[in-house]
Amino acid sequence: MLVVKKFGGSSVADRERIMNVARRCIEDYEKGNDVVVVLSAMGKTTDGLLEKAREITETPSKRELDMLLVTGEQVSVALMAMAFQSLGVQAVSLNAAQVAMRTTSAYGQAKLKRIDTERIRNELDARKIVVITGFQGINKYDDMTTLGRGGSDTTAVALAVALHADFCEIYTDVDGVYTADPRIVPNAKKLSEVSYDEMLEFASLGAKVLHNRSVEMAKRYGVKLVVLSSLTRAEGTIIKEKTS
Ligand code: ADP
Ligand code: ASP
Ligand code: MG
Repeated sequence: MLVVKKFGGSSVADRERIMNVARRCIEDYEKGNDVVVVLSAMGKTTDGLLEKAREITETPSKRELDMLLVTGEQVSVALMAMAFQSLGVQAVSLNAAQVAMRTTSAYGQAKLKRIDTERIRNELDARKIVVITGFQGINKYDDMTTLGRGGSDTTAVALAVALHADFCEIYTDVDGVYTADPRIVPNAKKLSEVSYDEMLEFASLGAKVLHNRSVEMAKRYGVKLVVLSSLTRAEGTIIKEKTS
C-alpha cells in the first residue's frame, strides 16, 4: 500500500516531536508500505518569517515573500530525513522544485496544477521514505510559490491523487474533527465520520483544521481523508463521500 501522511507545524515543533513522527512513520514503513510524508514548517516558523519580512518593509514583493516562506518547510523535511536516517531507515527529502510540483503563477495563493511523480516513484522503489515540503510549488517562471496559509493539507491530498495513494492521513494537534473548535468550545463532540460537504461547511465557518482546497480536491477525486492526532493513538475522523 502507499500512504501519504501529513504532519502540521505543531507535530514537528521540536526535536522530540520530530523523532516521534519519524517513529510512527517507520511503523507503517516496516509493514511493507510505501510511505510519503508531507510536512509543514516547524511550530510558528511561518509567522516568524512573515514578521522578519515586516521588519524590512511593510510592502514586500510577493515573489520574495514566497521565496522566504518556502524555507520553513525545507527545514522540516531535511531534519525529518535526518531523523529517519538516524533510526536506520533510508529516507530522502524533496522540495517542490525537486519533485516538480507545478502551480499557477499567483504568488501567495498559487493553485497546484500538475505533480511529476517520477522522482518520488524512483525513491519509493529504492525503499526510501520520501519526505516532501508542503505548502509550496513552482510556477511557469520556475519561481517558488506558496498555496496560501494552511496549504500543506492540499499538498498532501494532491500527492495522494497523483500517486493513487490508498490513504491520506492528516496528523494535527487535535485528535479529529469536532462539532466546533475544541479549543474554544470545550463540550464540542468528536465526529467519527464526516462527509466532504459537511467538512466544507465546517471550513467555510472558519474551522482551519483542514485547508478548504484540500477538502474540495479530496471530494473531486474521492480521496478518503483521515484527521488524527500525532501525539495520541485516538481513532480520528474519516472524511469521505457519505457518512453511514
Ligand atoms: P496543523 O498545524 O496541524 O495544520 P492547524 O492549526 O492548521 O493544524 O489546525 C488544527 C486546529 O484546528 C486545532 O488546533 C483546532 O484548534 C482547530 N479547529 C478549528 N475548528 C476545528 C474543528 N471543528 N475540529 C477540530 N479542530 C478544529
Ligand atoms: N506553514 C504554512 C502555514 O503556516 C503551511 C501549513 O502549515 O500548512 O500556513
Ligand atoms: Mg493546518
